[in-house]
Amino acid sequence: MAERLKDNSGRLLFTRDMKKEFLLLAPQMLPTHMAMVRNAFLSEGYKMDILQTTHRAIVDEGLRHVHNDTCYPALLVIGQLIEAVKSGRHDPDKIALLITQTGGGCRASNYIHLLRKALKRAGFDNIPVVSLNLSGMEKNPGFRLTLTFLRKLIYALLYGDLLMLLANQTRPYERVPGSADSLVETWVEAITRDYLAGRMRYRKVKAQFAQIVRDFSSLPVQGEKKLRVGVVGEIYVKYAPLGNNNLEAFLRSEDVETVVPGVLDFMIFKIDNRVQDGHLYGSKLIRKIAVALFKNVLVKCQNDLIAAVKNDPKFLAPSPFSETRELVKGYVGYGNKMGEGWLLTAEMLELVHNGCAGVVCTQPFGCLPNHVSGKGMMGLIKKNHPEANIVAIDYDPGASKTNQENRIKLMLATARAREEEKSPIAKALPNIT
Ligand code: SF4
Repeated sequence: MAERLKDNSGRLLFTRDMKKEFLLLAPQMLPTHMAMVRNAFLSEGYKMDILQTTHRAIVDEGLRHVHNDTCYPALLVIGQLIEAVKSGRHDPDKIALLITQTGGGCRASNYIHLLRKALKRAGFDNIPVVSLNLSGMEKNPGFRLTLTFLRKLIYALLYGDLLMLLANQTRPYERVPGSADSLVETWVEAITRDYLAGRMRYRKVKAQFAQIVRDFSSLPVQGEKKLRVGVVGEIYVKYAPLGNNNLEAFLRSEDVETVVPGVLDFMIFKIDNRVQDGHLYGSKLIRKIAVALFKNVLVKCQNDLIAAVKNDPKFLAPSPFSETRELVKGYVGYGNKMGEGWLLTAEMLELVHNGCAGVVCTQPFGCLPNHVSGKGMMGLIKKNHPEANIVAIDYDPGASKTNQENRIKLMLATARAREEEKSPIAKALPNIT
């Protein structure tokens, strides 16, 4: 059995032997993206599973082990991991837990410490916890984020963003119910085969962007354009069905087209913050160059994805990061970077500019940063854009799903009433943004 080794601070390490023997368990956030993140891990020789659980015991474990003034995503992520450890589904002597650290100033950097405390309280402090981060925090001999590995993770996010975007724009109109979801599955299987066969060259990834767009474009669709409703907010509650009470499924049941900004914007935002830190506080030249290069790589990948989508007029491409960034001028400074920071304000503005009839801003309990840049900015956005129809929805362990959905229904009723008011001529005109 793999020996338990600790570093000088007493932290349990994930060793090379563990890499061969242990199963890494990670919390769920975005099913399509995470399926491909798992591929990147498997192709690098790790054993890895993404937790698929969604039941109430997760919230109960979170409440039992995380202080109740901690933000809701921390409670769910830690609850899901502890529930899996205690469930008996895995051998506790052969698992390690994987969790991200953003390296920023909010709690997303500190979940890992709360998780270790929870493991200790639950009697599982012999389970190693591995940090996935870009800031060089918490090194482990059995886990290395090499450039090749990082490249594969970036591709995973790109594929995830593209499939999510195209599926969201196809599902409400599909002539064969379920065809968009089956196409997503087909592509996830094809990409999985490529990962496992080691065929992950960017030239091929880029060619696949074009093929994915063509495949979605060829799905038979019908019906008139539906109201477009955007979803923004703190990254976990924005995306995770567990965190937002299946918000996207609810919006689909309300017969609207959902618009969910991609994860890549968040990644570029995080790197852009490092560039900004250099301007505001100074940094070594070599670090400035490395950060700028990394940002350029991500921006180039995003531009390639956008170009592939723009090739087909059926689909509306996302805005490039540089344009989204410009939108917040006059609203909030670029130094506002805790949580989703200025990006949350920018995404609300982007959705309003792109003609979304409504926007749901998901706000987790206990999240100060996103209340400032989300709910806190709505007044100014509505003042400058009277057409903006944004509703902030709070998520916490005791929130009533019915109340949340009723508030969203009110926002949708306003959107529909405004649509009715538009003259037939105005309706016939395309959105000019
Ligand atoms: S952004 Fe908010 S919800 Fe997310 S980790 Fe930070 S404090 Fe918690």
